[in-house]
Amino acid sequence: MSAPEPTPSADNPSTPERSLNFIEQIVEEDLRTNRNGGLPVQTRFPPEPNGYLHIGHAKSICLNFGLAKKYGGKCNLRFDDTNPTTEETEYVDSIQEDVRWVGFNWDGLYYASDYFEQLYQWAEQLIQENLAYVDSQSADEMAKQRGSATVAGIETPFRNRSVEENLDLFRRMKAGEFPDGAHVLRAKIDLAETHLIMRDPVLYRIRHAHHHRTGDKWCIYPMYDYAHGQCDSIEKVTHSICTLEFETHRRLYDWCIENLRIFPSRQYEFARLNLTYTVLSKRRLLELVKGNHLAGWDDPRMPTLCGLRRRGYTPEAIRAFCDRIGVARFNSTIEMSWLEDALRDDLNKRAPRAMAVLKPLKVVVTNWPAGEVDWLDAVNNPEDASAGSRKVPFSGTLYVEQDDFMENPPKQFFRLGPGREVRLRYAYLITCQEVVKDASGNVVELRCTYDPASRGGNSPDGRKVKATLHWVSAEHAIATEVRLYDHLCRQPNPNDVPEGVDWKTTINPNSLEVVPQAMLEPSLAQAAPGSQWQFERLGYFCVDSVDSKPGQPIFNRSVTLRDSWAKAQQKAGGQRS
Ligand code: ATP
Ligand code: MG
Repeated sequence: MSAPEPTPSADNPSTPERSLNFIEQIVEEDLRTNRNGGLPVQTRFPPEPNGYLHIGHAKSICLNFGLAKKYGGKCNLRFDDTNPTTEETEYVDSIQEDVRWVGFNWDGLYYASDYFEQLYQWAEQLIQENLAYVDSQSADEMAKQRGSATVAGIETPFRNRSVEENLDLFRRMKAGEFPDGAHVLRAKIDLAETHLIMRDPVLYRIRHAHHHRTGDKWCIYPMYDYAHGQCDSIEKVTHSICTLEFETHRRLYDWCIENLRIFPSRQYEFARLNLTYTVLSKRRLLELVKGNHLAGWDDPRMPTLCGLRRRGYTPEAIRAFCDRIGVARFNSTIEMSWLEDALRDDLNKRAPRAMAVLKPLKVVVTNWPAGEVDWLDAVNNPEDASAGSRKVPFSGTLYVEQDDFMENPPKQFFRLGPGREVRLRYAYLITCQEVVKDASGNVVELRCTYDPASRGGNSPDGRKVKATLHWVSAEHAIATEVRLYDHLCRQPNPNDVPEGVDWKTTINPNSLEVVPQAMLEPSLAQAAPGSQWQFERLGYFCVDSVDSKPGQPIFNRSVTLRDSWAKAQQKAGGQRS
């Protein structure tokens, strides 16, 4: 797996003084040479409204909006809605919500469909200048004639239609006289071009389909390659930034703009974001949603922005991640742990701490005065003094984590075991005196004594107590569902499957673990939907904004405290450097 760029150093993870990325260098050079005649930097983020945005789109959003912000320019949000059959208003709305959530506001809000009339007029102009013609062959025939990198294409018999005939046919295409596929409009460029894309590419096709905005007004629709550059040009986009797979399309982008003699927008390509253990393609994410593999676009396992939001990701973490991974011209795959680290860094500073026990084991404190409750001071956030403190109740019956007890603990295990003394966070030192089991031999209760002189967790005589455990008071605890997540896919690169094997076979069947009855400290009963918490020793959690009810929050684990997955992997195979 290649490393992201620039690589931050261990002691300087956020590279605050990072050098200019290659696009910033281009922009600065353009400003220096006044290449755009005094026009401000104009960028755009151009999603096709055919799905929800994912973390890859966030990279493009941060880049486009970030450039405009940095250089005092403007950035538009433009829906690239030239394909009527896949687009829906639901997606248009979610995209706007997500862009705002990442932290940006667009200067102009446009739709490629706003420009259909202008695009059509320009197509007529190309026909008038003998730079475009109507081809009446089938798509199959056209594909056969296209040739290859080493073999020139073959001319269609319709290539030399007169301007009048082309205009007449194109107007009748627009008027709806022909069925889908009967004709297309093609640019007249060169069939011997080494760039296949330049071999008389299709500019318009007939599609009798309802469009989410223009309704049934149009039955011919422009192709992406014809529409995109002209839309940029109309909006006076100075730097049209797209992903590397469009590099070969740049010739056509320039050809259209040059031949139409319109504002010279220019296209620059950068590497798209790939992340380990997930897929970043709307088509694949749609497969997951349609196939009911997950609960929907906002399932917290999805790499969509709404999924990440529901999982507990913050816009700050997403922006910091996008900044750290940088912008380059070669493709690479970023480790998921980079995204998780960005969230930990952000939440560590501001998530209030709380105690919760996921897999409860009952502890009875045998020498605790019957019926007494001690309300202890607990620090809300050791990283933020202004967060203050709260009271947590301690009583004679508690829960600790099952994993914090071993009947026959090995040497390195410092937590509870028969005869062992541990510290309960903010509370007391307790010693395990007796282990109670059920008929099948399962440990169901620990009977412990506490040291009254250790209030606050201090060791009264300086004796060594290594482990500090989290806990909750049984009578005060609120029982609620907690959802724990693992990677969406089992292998680092889910696209890396043998020929003929469905990538969906790489889906991790254990990506969701539901803990039906976790025990939480009582202050969490009123936790607001979407609010974020650190459960001590367990990770960062947020209140699920969809399924929680007032007084009955359901928590999603956003991320563990450490990268336990990477550690487990390392142990298992030692494959991580
Ligand atoms: P997908 O392949 O997921 O459907 P797309 O490229 O078709 O994505 P668009 O709606 O066309 O999706 O994308 C809007 C903008 O976001 C484009 O400029 C595109 O280049 C950029 N983008 C999409 N995916 C990524 C990614 N993984 N990393 C960076 N930028 C991306
Ligand atoms: Mg696209």
